[in-house]
Amino acid sequence: MNILVVEDEQNLADAICHILEGAGYHAEAAYDGKSGLTAAESGLYDAMILDVMLPRMTGFEVVHELRRQGNSIPVLLLTARTSTTDKVEGLDAGADDYMTKPFEAPELLARMRALTRRQGDVVIDEASFADLTLDLNTHDLRCGEKSVHLSGKEFEVLRMLMSSTSRVVSKQDLLTRVWGTDGEGSENSVEAYVSFLRKKISHIGSKVQITTLRMLGYRLEVFERLGA
Ligand code: CA
Repeated sequence: MNILVVEDEQNLADAICHILEGAGYHAEAAYDGKSGLTAAESGLYDAMILDVMLPRMTGFEVVHELRRQGNSIPVLLLTARTSTTDKVEGLDAGADDYMTKPFEAPELLARMRALTRRQGDVVIDEASFADLTLDLNTHDLRCGEKSVHLSGKEFEVLRMLMSSTSRVVSKQDLLTRVWGTDGEGSENSVEAYVSFLRKKISHIGSKVQITTLRMLGYRLEVFERLGA
């Protein structure tokens, strides 16, 4: 299970990652709000620990933006302050839980277990963009009455594009995040899977297209079909 830790005090961020890794999670840190948002949008993390007071974007702003995009990653807010308004503001913004600093390792791990368990209990787990709905459990892609099954890599590529609709996803990002760093994939693999996905998306009659932006990467866009 991948956990994203967003905390600008690097010693604390590293300590949290260390505690999580000791408990069998895979943890990665981001040190400011904007980088944290970008990482969370990748769709690669199962949960996120998010400090409130961060440079470039506050934790409140990050969670608010994720929820606005329809991203439902479980979020544990870290706050140094204990005022009730802070907790209420955090939960209102869309956080799932909060924890006050300083805290001890057992409390952190107990909250992570609750947070990730809650995610597993969600009955309908899907991502959507325009007329497309992607079932995150079965990997079926639906548009209206029509649906098509996606292979593992097709699913990962589309999931990443769907969770990053506010920005362009580069081939290199897709390669690193879907194929990993084991050197199995190449830019040709990315192009091949994007081409498979385009056929499937068109097959189920969606208005969504994967647009190529030269030198930049890919983005999902909605096109009205002529004559439709
Ligand atoms: Ca901070």
